[in-house]
Amino acid sequence: MVAGETEMHDMIRESVRDIAADFDHGYWREHIEEKRFPAEYWATLAEDGWLGVAIPEEYGGEGLGMVEMTIIIEELSRGGGQGGIVFVLTPVFGGIGIERHGSEAQKDETTAEATDDGWRVNGEKTFISGVENADAMLLVARTSEFDPSNPTQGVTLFVVDEPTERAGISLSTVETTVPWFETQYAVRFDDLEVSESDVLGAVDGGLYLLWDTLNTERIGGAASALGGGLRAVDLAVEYAGDREVFGAPIGSHQAIQHPIADSYAKLTAAREVTYKAAKKWDAGEDCGMEANAAKLLTSRFGTEAADRAIQTHGGNGFTPEYEVFSIWQNLRLTQTAPVSNEMVLNYIGEHELGMPRSY
Ligand SMILES: Cc1cc2nc3c(=O)[nH]c(=O)nc-3n(C[C@H](O)[C@H](O)[C@H](O)COP(=O)(O)OP(=O)(O)OC[C@H]3O[C@@H](n4cnc5c(N)ncnc54)[C@H](O)[C@@H]3O)c2cc1C
Repeated sequence: MVAGETEMHDMIRESVRDIAADFDHGYWREHIEEKRFPAEYWATLAEDGWLGVAIPEEYGGEGLGMVEMTIIIEELSRGGGQGGIVFVLTPVFGGIGIERHGSEAQKDETTAEATDDGWRVNGEKTFISGVENADAMLLVARTSEFDPSNPTQGVTLFVVDEPTERAGISLSTVETTVPWFETQYAVRFDDLEVSESDVLGAVDGGLYLLWDTLNTERIGGAASALGGGLRAVDLAVEYAGDREVFGAPIGSHQAIQHPIADSYAKLTAAREVTYKAAKKWDAGEDCGMEANAAKLLTSRFGTEAADRAIQTHGGNGFTPEYEVFSIWQNLRLTQTAPVSNEMVLNYIGEHELGMPRSY
């Protein structure tokens, strides 16, 4: 249990752990190989109310907060499979979607020109995950010329329903090496018509909405990397105890044991800052420093833990029967997406340390 957690939090951890245990490595391998959405997993999470954990009760959610969301993502990821991705890459939590779709590249490349009854959108965004499963897409578009004296104005958020059916949107797949059940796409907008009723928030005021939710994806991503890193540690511990070479379990050797223990210590520290970020987020306090630090540290320590788990597994570390290599691939990605660690460090350098802006 993390300091400050309640019995209710314990209950959430246990329930979610049980769900993760019902969907084994074979289930996930099948879905990744076939690029198939894990519908049964999703339905179970929905039935038990976990998908709506941070949605207010009046909208059918559980009305809990970021701490509970962090617990769920951590435990699903630690339980194996792609629960973290299910959460972080879907619009379950509006803020996460908003921040994700507001990448720098998209802001630069997609513009909306005013028409008599709305806007016409043109542009392209590469690397959009899971469009095939989306009922709606959040689009960030520039609706007014960039004005250096007022750089925060001029960007609008649009909710685009049924993106795969809409005229003006075309998709092409982008090959990546990450073992996900979701496909990545380049999305092209050619004269896509959107109207006033599709606008989220205020016209030209979309960046405020983005910033308001900027930290949610950092925290969700950190929880996912934390859980993935802890899974790598769990699997390494188990394998190091079982595998005997020259009459002794390999875990009895310090060359194997210490790196695993070191990773566990690092992840334990990263976990503290992750939950601190979540608590500040729930209290409505500025959690930018903690959310960015959590994202940075969990992605680095998680990747390192997975690398060590591969080493512990010897040759088996490179076979699909054992999860550790795909855990490493997923964790390595967290250093680059949804936001790169360089951008995270830019934030800390500029906003926390007052250093000059690099972009
Ligand atoms: C599998 C996958 C799924 C994805 N899914 C989505 C999605 O669903 N939605 C979405 O919007 N995006 C998605 N992305 C995109 C992802 O968010 C970007 O790839 C990521 O933010 C990095 O941006 P970039 O690729 O444009 O890199 P670039 O901006 O081209 O940067 C390249 C490198 O230079 C560094 N760099 C750039 N500028 C600076 C600077 N000023 N200071 C220091 N370093 C700098 C970057 O950190 C990076 O290491 C996905 C990417 C992948 C690989």
